[in-house]
Amino acid sequence: MSDKFDVVVIGGGPGGYVAAIRAAQLGLKTACIEKWLDKDNKPRLGGTCLNVGCIPSKALLDSSQKYHDAKETFGVHGISMSDVAMNVDAMVDRKDKIVDQLTGGITGLFKANGVTSFEGFGKVLANKKVEFTAHDGTVTVIETENVILATGSVPVNIPPAPRTGDIIVDNQGALDFRAVPKRLGVIGAGVIGLELGSVWDSFRF
Ligand SMILES: Cc1cc2nc3c(=O)[nH]c(=O)nc-3n(C[C@H](O)[C@H](O)[C@H](O)COP(=O)(O)OP(=O)(O)OC[C@H]3O[C@@H](n4cnc5c(N)ncnc54)[C@H](O)[C@@H]3O)c2cc1C
Repeated sequence: MSDKFDVVVIGGGPGGYVAAIRAAQLGLKTACIEKWLDKDNKPRLGGTCLNVGCIPSKALLDSSQKYHDAKETFGVHGISMSDVAMNVDAMVDRKDKIVDQLTGGITGLFKANGVTSFEGFGKVLANKKVEFTAHDGTVTVIETENVILATGSVPVNIPPAPRTGDIIVDNQGALDFRAVPKRLGVIGAGVIGLELGSVWDSFRF
């Protein structure tokens, strides 16, 4: 089977999905290849930002700020509360729902703008061709005039502390703790470390 496009975008994160939608709006026959699978193995658009980055971290920050306010700052407004408790499962479930809604929104935007969505792995070949491997292993060669690479980045393993998935986690793991860690060390004081560190720090009272 062979398809021909004006533009094939590899990667459906903020870089890729916006480029794909704009290309389609400009009248170019456009496809976007995205390999992301969620926890239930369902294909997802949105990349790091919507799935395990900007959006879920802000959802948790919102929850942790509300908890902190209820515990620490409502008193000065004359609002007293007793038995303030944190249900981490409910907080993480709310975050997951927000992610579902927003990633689903991109699927809707692709349909509305006529972007063809390919769910699987994209590989650039010679002679204006892209190989697409679907999640079921089916391989298709797509012909295209242009390719946009928007494949993002992935967390690295730090040799002395490689990710274990339980004790040593990356941003994705830190968004999915199902209980407040008693102690949490963050390696990396960039925005992501500070943001997720402050989420979990809010619950230590
Ligand atoms: C916790 C956290 C919080 C953040 N908060 C913010 C914030 O508040 N504001 C902000 O601006 N940024 C934030 N960021 C950064 C933001 O997430 C990234 O800058 C953004 O996601 C980069 O977009 P991208 O499209 O370049 O890459 P990505 O979002 O990583 O998307 C790349 C996509 O390409 C896909 N892909 C890769 N290779 C292939 C292939 N061969 N075939 C098919 N698909 C492929 C990947 O599966 C992925 O979905 C945050 C990041 C994290 C981790």
